[in-house]
Amino acid sequence: MIEIFIILLGLIFGSFANVCIHRLPLDLDIVKDRSHCPKCKKKIAWHDNIPLLSSLILSFKCRTCKKKISKQYFIVELLTGLAFMFFYKTLGPSFDFVLICIIFIILLIIFFIDLKHYIIPDSLNFSLILIGITKNFTTQDFLKLNYNLPDSLLGGALGYLIIWLIIFIYKKIRNKEAMGLGDAKLLSAFGFLLGVKPIFIILFVASVLGLLFVLPSLLFKNRSTGSIIPFGPFIILAAILEYFFNLQQYVVLN
Ligand SMILES: [Zn+2]
Repeated sequence: MIEIFIILLGLIFGSFANVCIHRLPLDLDIVKDRSHCPKCKKKIAWHDNIPLLSSLILSFKCRTCKKKISKQYFIVELLTGLAFMFFYKTLGPSFDFVLICIIFIILLIIFFIDLKHYIIPDSLNFSLILIGITKNFTTQDFLKLNYNLPDSLLGGALGYLIIWLIIFIYKKIRNKEAMGLGDAKLLSAFGFLLGVKPIFIILFVASVLGLLFVLPSLLFKNRSTGSIIPFGPFIILAAILEYFFNLQQYVVLN
């Protein structure tokens, strides 16, 4: 019974994440105003706004203008429902569960905003950084994050500096932005959360993932070497791999 409640909770938060993904980059209010179709601007009735179901019933089209509605809405809702369920199964009813759900939602929103708009809103990065810093001052070991204060603070500082340095050097050499400061703040957040060593692993794995992602389109020449790709999603995927599989154990860093 409780499982059904957790999934429903996930679907509702997934729906909220969709609103944030759509509105934050446009500087729109995320609580005021009812949802409306991005194409014909018609307000969406509550019975057409039910997570997962409405997308399926309307077969990913607006009821009024019949234009396609992005599958992203469905994917985000489904991911959140499944993630909440997975977290609940592994952590049970605990503060750990609440905390990982919050972190998950923030990362999910960043992932899709960066994918679409090549930006990461400061409000999201700063929320993560705030969690990363304040957790150092609690007495409990929540989510097995890094609770070594100097290591956490150094991780946060280095995470920012490394990407800032890459941007700086790349700009000197090629007079172009390699990454954005949003990426620097995101890596910094993971530094505060996980510590110094994971920063280097995350940056390395994210670069490999990014390269694998662009390789096919470079080979088939439908993308020029100068075109931009969002780096935030790769940082997030790398951080998830590092966190759940503890990749740093395979690397000797002295
Ligand atoms: Zn419409």
